Amino acid sequence: MKLTDWNDQSLTQPSALLQDGHGRRVEYLRLSVTDRCDLRCRYCLPRDYCKFEQPSHWLNFAEIERLVFAFARLGLKRVRLTGGEPLLRKNLAELATRLAVVPGIEDLSLSTNGTQLKAQARRLREAGVGRLNVSLDTLDRTRFAAITGRDVLPEVLAGLEATCAEGFRLIKINMVALADTTDDEVDAMTAYCLERGFVLRLIETMPIGEAGRKAGFVSLQPLQERLRARYNLVDGMVPGGGPARYLVSADGSFQIGFITPLSQHFCESCNRVRLTVDGQLCLCLGQHNSVDLRTPLRAGVSDAALEQVLVEALRGKPKRHEFEDQPQRLRRLMSATGG
Ligand code: SAM
Repeated sequence: MKLTDWNDQSLTQPSALLQDGHGRRVEYLRLSVTDRCDLRCRYCLPRDYCKFEQPSHWLNFAEIERLVFAFARLGLKRVRLTGGEPLLRKNLAELATRLAVVPGIEDLSLSTNGTQLKAQARRLREAGVGRLNVSLDTLDRTRFAAITGRDVLPEVLAGLEATCAEGFRLIKINMVALADTTDDEVDAMTAYCLERGFVLRLIETMPIGEAGRKAGFVSLQPLQERLRARYNLVDGMVPGGGPARYLVSADGSFQIGFITPLSQHFCESCNRVRLTVDGQLCLCLGQHNSVDLRTPLRAGVSDAALEQVLVEALRGKPKRHEFEDQPQRLRRLMSATGG
Protein backbone atom coordinates (compact mmCIF):
# COMPACT_ATOMS: atom_id res chain seq x y z
CA MET A 1 0.00 0.00 0.00
CA LYS A 2 1.34 3.44 -0.93
CA LEU A 3 1.60 6.15 1.72
CA THR A 4 -1.04 8.28 0.09
CA ASP A 5 -3.46 5.33 -0.06
CA TRP A 6 -3.61 4.74 3.63
CA ASN A 7 -3.39 8.44 4.41
CA ASP A 8 -6.62 8.97 2.47
CA GLN A 9 -8.11 5.91 4.10
CA SER A 10 -7.23 7.34 7.52
CA LEU A 11 -9.89 9.99 7.02
CA THR A 12 -12.61 7.38 6.78
CA GLN A 13 -11.39 4.64 9.12
CA PRO A 14 -8.96 6.35 11.44
CA SER A 15 -9.17 4.10 14.47
CA ALA A 16 -8.26 1.00 12.45
CA LEU A 17 -4.85 2.53 11.82
CA LEU A 18 -3.82 2.84 15.43
CA GLN A 19 -4.14 -0.88 15.94
CA ASP A 20 -1.14 -2.80 17.17
CA GLY A 21 0.13 -6.19 16.06
CA HIS A 22 -1.99 -7.89 18.74
CA GLY A 23 -5.32 -6.38 17.66
CA ARG A 24 -5.45 -3.73 20.40
CA ARG A 25 -6.64 -0.25 19.50
CA VAL A 26 -4.46 2.54 20.81
CA GLU A 27 -6.48 5.66 21.50
CA TYR A 28 -4.61 7.18 24.40
CA LEU A 29 -1.32 9.11 24.53
CA ARG A 30 0.52 9.95 27.71
CA LEU A 31 2.54 12.98 26.85
CA SER A 32 5.51 13.81 29.05
CA VAL A 33 6.32 17.50 28.90
CA THR A 34 9.33 17.27 31.22
CA ASP A 35 11.42 14.60 32.90
CA ARG A 36 12.15 16.89 35.86
CA CYS A 37 10.30 16.79 39.12
CA ASP A 38 10.28 18.84 42.32
CA LEU A 39 9.77 15.68 44.41
CA ARG A 40 11.96 12.61 44.79
CA CYS A 41 9.46 9.87 45.60
CA ARG A 42 11.57 7.02 46.85
CA TYR A 43 10.05 4.46 44.45
CA CYS A 44 10.40 6.75 41.42
CA LEU A 45 13.37 9.11 41.23
CA PRO A 46 16.67 8.56 43.10
CA ARG A 47 17.43 11.45 45.50
CA ASP A 48 20.74 12.32 43.83
CA TYR A 49 19.51 11.87 40.24
CA CYS A 50 20.69 14.59 37.85
CA LYS A 51 20.88 13.04 34.36
CA PHE A 52 17.94 15.03 33.01
CA GLU A 53 17.31 15.52 29.31
CA GLN A 54 18.95 18.62 27.88
CA PRO A 55 16.50 21.40 26.89
CA SER A 56 17.59 21.37 23.24
CA HIS A 57 16.17 17.83 23.05
CA TRP A 58 12.79 18.76 24.54
CA LEU A 59 10.04 18.76 21.95
CA ASN A 60 8.75 22.32 21.68
CA PHE A 61 5.03 23.09 21.71
CA ALA A 62 4.78 23.25 17.91
CA GLU A 63 6.41 19.81 17.60
CA ILE A 64 4.15 18.34 20.27
CA GLU A 65 1.09 19.85 18.62
CA ARG A 66 2.13 18.48 15.24
CA LEU A 67 2.49 14.99 16.69
CA VAL A 68 -0.88 15.13 18.43
CA PHE A 69 -2.53 16.30 15.20
CA ALA A 70 -0.94 13.35 13.38
CA PHE A 71 -2.02 10.87 16.06
CA ALA A 72 -5.53 12.33 16.10
CA ARG A 73 -5.87 11.95 12.32
CA LEU A 74 -5.16 8.27 12.91
CA GLY A 75 -7.80 7.91 15.64
CA LEU A 76 -6.24 9.05 18.91
CA LYS A 77 -8.95 10.27 21.28
CA ARG A 78 -7.31 11.01 24.60
CA VAL A 79 -4.21 12.85 25.76
CA ARG A 80 -2.82 13.05 29.29
CA LEU A 81 -0.14 15.62 30.12
CA THR A 82 2.39 14.12 32.47
CA GLY A 83 6.08 13.99 33.36
CA GLY A 84 8.21 14.31 35.51
CA GLU A 85 6.08 17.02 37.02
CA PRO A 86 4.20 18.61 34.11
CA LEU A 87 3.40 21.81 36.00
CA LEU A 88 7.13 22.62 35.99
CA ARG A 89 7.05 23.07 32.19
CA LYS A 90 6.80 26.78 31.46
CA ASN A 91 3.49 27.93 29.93
CA LEU A 92 1.90 24.49 30.17
CA ALA A 93 -1.59 26.02 30.02
CA GLU A 94 -0.73 27.42 26.59
CA LEU A 95 0.11 23.92 25.35
CA ALA A 96 -3.10 22.58 26.91
CA THR A 97 -5.12 25.27 25.09
CA ARG A 98 -3.59 24.18 21.79
CA LEU A 99 -4.13 20.45 22.37
CA ALA A 100 -7.68 20.77 23.70
CA VAL A 101 -8.93 21.91 20.29
CA VAL A 102 -7.18 19.30 18.14
CA PRO A 103 -9.97 17.67 16.09
CA GLY A 104 -10.65 14.15 17.38
CA ILE A 105 -9.22 14.69 20.87
CA GLU A 106 -12.16 14.16 23.19
CA ASP A 107 -10.40 14.14 26.52
CA LEU A 108 -7.44 16.18 27.79
CA SER A 109 -6.26 15.32 31.29
CA LEU A 110 -3.25 15.91 33.54
CA SER A 111 -1.26 13.94 36.12
CA THR A 112 0.43 16.02 38.79
CA ASN A 113 1.98 15.80 42.22
CA GLY A 114 -0.08 18.85 43.16
CA THR A 115 2.69 21.07 44.53
CA GLN A 116 2.00 23.82 41.95
CA LEU A 117 -1.71 23.18 41.57
CA LYS A 118 -3.02 26.04 43.69
CA ALA A 119 -1.48 28.62 41.37
CA GLN A 120 -2.31 26.79 38.13
CA ALA A 121 -5.67 25.02 38.61
CA ARG A 122 -7.82 27.81 37.17
CA ARG A 123 -5.62 28.35 34.09
CA LEU A 124 -5.55 24.61 33.37
CA ARG A 125 -9.32 24.31 33.59
CA GLU A 126 -9.78 27.36 31.36
CA ALA A 127 -7.28 25.84 28.91
CA GLY A 128 -9.51 22.78 28.51
CA VAL A 129 -8.03 20.23 30.91
CA GLY A 130 -11.08 18.24 31.99
CA ARG A 131 -9.73 15.69 34.45
CA LEU A 132 -6.92 15.56 36.97
CA ASN A 133 -4.98 12.74 38.58
CA VAL A 134 -3.14 13.90 41.68
CA SER A 135 -0.50 11.67 43.25
CA LEU A 136 -0.74 11.52 47.01
CA ASP A 137 0.61 8.55 48.96
CA THR A 138 -0.27 9.62 52.50
CA LEU A 139 -1.99 12.34 54.51
CA ASP A 140 0.62 12.13 57.25
CA ARG A 141 2.97 15.10 56.90
CA THR A 142 6.05 13.34 58.31
CA ARG A 143 5.51 10.27 56.12
CA PHE A 144 4.87 12.47 53.09
CA ALA A 145 8.23 14.21 53.60
CA ALA A 146 9.97 10.86 54.09
CA ILE A 147 8.47 9.37 50.91
CA THR A 148 8.87 12.41 48.64
CA GLY A 149 11.96 14.08 50.12
CA ARG A 150 10.09 17.38 50.66
CA ASP A 151 7.84 18.70 53.42
CA VAL A 152 5.15 20.08 51.12
CA LEU A 153 1.99 18.17 52.04
CA PRO A 154 0.17 21.43 53.00
CA GLU A 155 0.85 22.85 49.50
CA VAL A 156 -0.51 19.70 47.83
CA LEU A 157 -3.65 19.76 49.99
CA ALA A 158 -4.14 23.48 49.25
CA GLY A 159 -3.80 22.67 45.55
CA LEU A 160 -6.45 19.98 45.85
CA GLU A 161 -8.81 22.35 47.66
CA ALA A 162 -8.29 24.86 44.83
CA THR A 163 -9.28 22.28 42.20
CA CYS A 164 -12.64 21.70 43.92
CA ALA A 165 -13.75 25.21 42.96
CA GLU A 166 -12.76 24.95 39.30
CA GLY A 167 -15.27 22.43 37.98
CA PHE A 168 -12.99 19.64 36.78
CA ARG A 169 -15.10 16.70 35.56
CA LEU A 170 -13.23 14.17 37.67
CA ILE A 171 -10.39 14.21 40.19
CA LYS A 172 -8.56 10.99 40.97
CA ILE A 173 -6.06 10.52 43.78
CA ASN A 174 -3.26 8.08 42.94
CA MET A 175 -1.82 6.43 46.04
CA VAL A 176 1.10 4.03 45.63
CA ALA A 177 0.87 1.19 48.16
CA LEU A 178 4.30 0.75 49.72
CA ALA A 179 5.53 -2.05 51.96
CA ASP A 180 5.18 0.26 54.99
CA THR A 181 1.83 1.83 54.05
CA THR A 182 -0.52 1.15 56.97
CA ASP A 183 -4.22 0.33 56.98
CA ASP A 184 -4.75 3.57 58.94
CA GLU A 185 -3.18 5.59 56.10
CA VAL A 186 -5.41 3.90 53.54
CA ASP A 187 -8.50 4.47 55.69
CA ALA A 188 -7.60 8.15 56.23
CA MET A 189 -7.14 8.59 52.47
CA THR A 190 -10.42 6.80 51.78
CA ALA A 191 -12.28 9.14 54.17
CA TYR A 192 -10.56 12.20 52.65
CA CYS A 193 -11.59 11.20 49.11
CA LEU A 194 -15.11 10.23 50.16
CA GLU A 195 -15.65 13.66 51.74
CA ARG A 196 -14.55 15.54 48.61
CA GLY A 197 -15.93 13.30 45.88
CA PHE A 198 -12.45 12.29 44.67
CA VAL A 199 -11.92 8.83 43.20
CA LEU A 200 -9.17 6.98 45.07
CA ARG A 201 -6.86 4.64 43.16
CA LEU A 202 -4.36 2.39 44.84
CA ILE A 203 -1.33 1.41 42.78
CA GLU A 204 1.09 -1.49 43.09
CA THR A 205 4.72 -0.42 43.08
CA MET A 206 6.31 -1.33 39.75
CA PRO A 207 9.98 -2.33 39.38
CA ILE A 208 10.78 0.57 37.06
CA GLY A 209 14.33 1.87 37.40
CA GLU A 210 16.51 1.21 40.40
CA ALA A 211 14.25 3.18 42.77
CA GLY A 212 11.19 1.17 41.75
CA ARG A 213 13.02 -2.14 42.13
CA LYS A 214 14.39 -1.20 45.55
CA ALA A 215 10.96 -0.11 46.83
CA GLY A 216 9.74 -3.72 46.78
CA PHE A 217 6.41 -5.10 45.65
CA VAL A 218 3.22 -5.38 47.68
CA SER A 219 0.21 -7.15 46.18
CA LEU A 220 -2.99 -5.12 46.44
CA GLN A 221 -5.20 -8.21 46.52
CA PRO A 222 -5.48 -8.48 50.36
CA LEU A 223 -6.11 -4.73 50.70
CA GLN A 224 -8.77 -4.93 48.00
CA GLU A 225 -10.63 -7.62 49.95
CA ARG A 226 -10.31 -5.68 53.24
CA LEU A 227 -11.78 -2.52 51.67
CA ARG A 228 -14.52 -4.47 49.92
CA ALA A 229 -15.71 -5.83 53.26
CA ARG A 230 -15.17 -2.66 55.30
CA TYR A 231 -17.08 -0.31 52.96
CA ASN A 232 -19.50 -2.89 51.56
CA LEU A 233 -18.26 -2.39 47.99
CA VAL A 234 -19.06 -4.31 44.82
CA ASP A 235 -17.26 -4.61 41.46
CA GLY A 236 -17.99 -1.61 39.25
CA MET A 237 -16.83 0.75 36.51
CA VAL A 238 -15.61 4.34 36.41
CA PRO A 239 -15.11 6.37 33.21
CA GLY A 240 -11.53 6.87 32.07
CA GLY A 241 -10.61 3.86 29.94
CA GLY A 242 -7.62 3.05 32.12
CA PRO A 243 -6.32 -0.16 33.65
CA ALA A 244 -7.87 0.25 37.12
CA ARG A 245 -10.37 -2.30 38.39
CA TYR A 246 -12.96 -0.59 40.56
CA LEU A 247 -14.93 -1.35 43.66
CA VAL A 248 -17.96 0.91 44.13
CA SER A 249 -20.54 1.53 46.85
CA ALA A 250 -24.04 0.16 46.24
CA ASP A 251 -25.42 3.65 45.46
CA GLY A 252 -22.47 4.36 43.12
CA SER A 253 -21.44 7.45 45.09
CA PHE A 254 -18.00 6.15 46.06
CA GLN A 255 -15.34 4.30 44.06
CA ILE A 256 -11.89 2.90 44.76
CA GLY A 257 -9.69 1.77 41.89
CA PHE A 258 -6.89 -0.81 42.03
CA ILE A 259 -4.04 -0.66 39.54
CA THR A 260 -2.41 -4.07 39.76
CA PRO A 261 0.14 -4.44 36.96
CA LEU A 262 1.87 -7.28 38.76
CA SER A 263 -0.69 -9.22 40.78
CA GLN A 264 -3.30 -9.09 37.99
CA HIS A 265 -1.85 -7.62 34.81
CA PHE A 266 -4.05 -5.86 32.26
CA CYS A 267 -1.86 -5.88 29.14
CA GLU A 268 -4.54 -7.53 26.98
CA SER A 269 -6.61 -4.34 27.16
CA CYS A 270 -3.72 -1.84 27.00
CA ASN A 271 -4.83 1.10 24.85
CA ARG A 272 -1.96 3.55 25.37
CA VAL A 273 1.50 4.65 24.36
CA ARG A 274 3.80 7.22 25.95
CA LEU A 275 5.85 10.04 24.51
CA THR A 276 8.94 11.24 26.38
CA VAL A 277 9.95 14.90 26.57
CA ASP A 278 12.69 14.25 24.00
CA GLY A 279 10.31 12.69 21.51
CA GLN A 280 10.77 8.95 22.07
CA LEU A 281 7.58 6.94 21.68
CA CYS A 282 7.48 4.26 24.39
CA LEU A 283 5.21 1.43 23.37
CA CYS A 284 4.97 -0.29 26.74
CA LEU A 285 5.62 1.01 30.26
CA GLY A 286 7.09 -2.34 31.23
CA GLN A 287 9.47 -2.82 28.30
CA HIS A 288 12.44 -0.76 27.23
CA ASN A 289 11.80 -0.43 23.49
CA SER A 290 10.91 2.92 21.91
CA VAL A 291 10.74 4.69 18.55
CA ASP A 292 12.49 7.99 17.91
CA LEU A 293 10.06 10.65 16.64
CA ARG A 294 12.24 13.69 17.29
CA THR A 295 14.67 12.91 14.47
CA PRO A 296 12.06 12.68 11.70
CA LEU A 297 10.21 15.71 13.11
CA ARG A 298 13.37 17.83 13.05
CA ALA A 299 14.35 16.48 9.62
CA GLY A 300 11.16 17.99 8.14
CA VAL A 301 9.11 14.80 7.71
CA SER A 302 5.86 15.26 5.74
CA ASP A 303 2.50 14.73 7.48
CA ALA A 304 1.89 11.54 5.51
CA ALA A 305 5.31 10.10 6.30
CA LEU A 306 4.90 11.03 9.96
CA GLU A 307 1.60 9.15 10.09
CA GLN A 308 3.31 6.14 8.55
CA VAL A 309 6.05 6.26 11.19
CA LEU A 310 3.34 6.22 13.89
CA VAL A 311 1.39 3.37 12.33
CA GLU A 312 4.52 1.26 11.93
CA ALA A 313 5.68 2.06 15.46
CA LEU A 314 2.34 0.91 16.84
CA ARG A 315 2.63 -2.45 15.09
CA GLY A 316 5.66 -3.14 17.30
CA LYS A 317 3.82 -2.61 20.58
CA PRO A 318 4.82 -5.52 22.84
CA LYS A 319 2.19 -8.03 23.89
CA ARG A 320 2.87 -7.55 27.59
CA HIS A 321 5.21 -6.05 30.13
CA GLU A 322 8.35 -7.72 31.46
CA PHE A 323 8.02 -6.62 35.08
CA GLU A 324 8.37 -10.14 36.43
CA ASP A 325 10.59 -11.73 33.78
CA GLN A 326 13.20 -9.05 33.01
CA PRO A 327 12.89 -6.20 35.55
CA GLN A 328 16.60 -5.42 35.28
CA ARG A 329 16.08 -4.45 31.62
CA LEU A 330 13.83 -1.55 32.62
CA ARG A 331 16.50 1.09 33.00
CA ARG A 332 14.20 3.94 31.97
CA LEU A 333 12.84 5.87 34.95
CA MET A 334 9.11 6.35 35.47
CA SER A 335 9.67 10.12 35.62
CA ALA A 336 11.34 10.03 32.20
CA THR A 337 8.81 7.68 30.58
CA GLY A 338 5.73 9.70 31.50
CA GLY A 339 3.81 7.86 34.22
N1 SAM B 1 4.46 14.11 38.60
C1 SAM B 1 3.20 13.60 38.16
C2 SAM B 1 2.51 12.87 39.29
O1 SAM B 1 3.03 12.86 40.41
O2 SAM B 1 1.41 12.34 39.05
C3 SAM B 1 3.28 12.69 36.93
C4 SAM B 1 4.41 11.73 36.81
S1 SAM B 1 4.47 10.46 38.05
C5 SAM B 1 5.85 9.53 37.42
C6 SAM B 1 3.04 9.49 37.61
C7 SAM B 1 2.64 8.43 38.58
O3 SAM B 1 3.60 7.41 38.56
C8 SAM B 1 2.50 8.87 40.02
O4 SAM B 1 1.21 8.54 40.48
C9 SAM B 1 3.54 8.05 40.74
O5 SAM B 1 3.15 7.73 42.03
C10 SAM B 1 3.64 6.83 39.85
N2 SAM B 1 4.86 6.06 39.99
C11 SAM B 1 6.14 6.47 39.87
N3 SAM B 1 7.00 5.45 40.05
C12 SAM B 1 6.25 4.36 40.28
C13 SAM B 1 6.54 2.99 40.53
N4 SAM B 1 7.78 2.53 40.59
N5 SAM B 1 5.50 2.15 40.72
C14 SAM B 1 4.22 2.59 40.66
N6 SAM B 1 3.88 3.86 40.42
C15 SAM B 1 4.88 4.73 40.24
